[in-house]
Amino acid sequence: MTYQISATKLQAYNRCPYAYYLRYERRVVASEFFGSPTLGTALHQTLAQFHWDWHYQAPLPDLQWIHYCWRQHSSGLSNNQILEGMEILEKYYRTFIANQVAMNPPLAVEGKIQGYLQAENLEFMIVGRYDRIDFLPDGLELIDYKSSRERKLPDSSEIDVQIGLYYLALEQTYRQSLKYLSLLFLRSGEKIRFKATRDHQERVQTMISNLAVRLRHNRGWEPTPGKQCDRCTFARYCPAVTANPVPVPETQTKPQLQLALNLA
Ligand code: SF4
Repeated sequence: MTYQISATKLQAYNRCPYAYYLRYERRVVASEFFGSPTLGTALHQTLAQFHWDWHYQAPLPDLQWIHYCWRQHSSGLSNNQILEGMEILEKYYRTFIANQVAMNPPLAVEGKIQGYLQAENLEFMIVGRYDRIDFLPDGLELIDYKSSRERKLPDSSEIDVQIGLYYLALEQTYRQSLKYLSLLFLRSGEKIRFKATRDHQERVQTMISNLAVRLRHNRGWEPTPGKQCDRCTFARYCPAVTANPVPVPETQTKPQLQLALNLA
């Protein structure tokens, strides 16, 4: 049995092992609120079709092609959302497509990332999703579309974890190195590129080895206070920030003792 690890999980571990332990090992439910993903999903699907289904027999698609793709994916939206989405996509077209000499076919769109890693005799399965992967002359560029209103860059430590994990997984799948992770903000028409290096991969491997030691021995989940505590949904259980923390509730899932089965 393998232990699933994703960028979201490893970022959580990197922020605070105790919060990670409560959330993923003890399965304590965190109260979080999510906005409606409907418009974002429709935009992602439209861009996937726009890049993947274009016939590539002409250098560039025209604006009609993005309108056509939008009609395929916007049927369940309100009129306001349809207009808003159209505006966002036209901006995308003007900013990233119309000024190119030619549009190149992507390597893949809207796919799953999967890879494997052994650490401390445990097998980890890396999982994740991407919006688009493009070929570059010297490697791969992973593109992540961002459709939220707030243009907020993740902390550099979070980006580094994501790059390192994807570097590892993409090299296994495509035998090519990840050169850039790019965040493409659809509403502002900005593309922010982060350079990927083998160093990112090595740091993530070290992080996963540390996590493996904790998983094997089920100890060492110390709270690590920091700026993330302000938004931590486990603060009431946490002795580092609460004078009288409430007991961690009994949960249905035990700490992952089955990991011992993976040991040599
Ligand atoms: S409050 Fe801070 S130290 Fe405590 S679990 Fe949350 S992130 Fe970790």
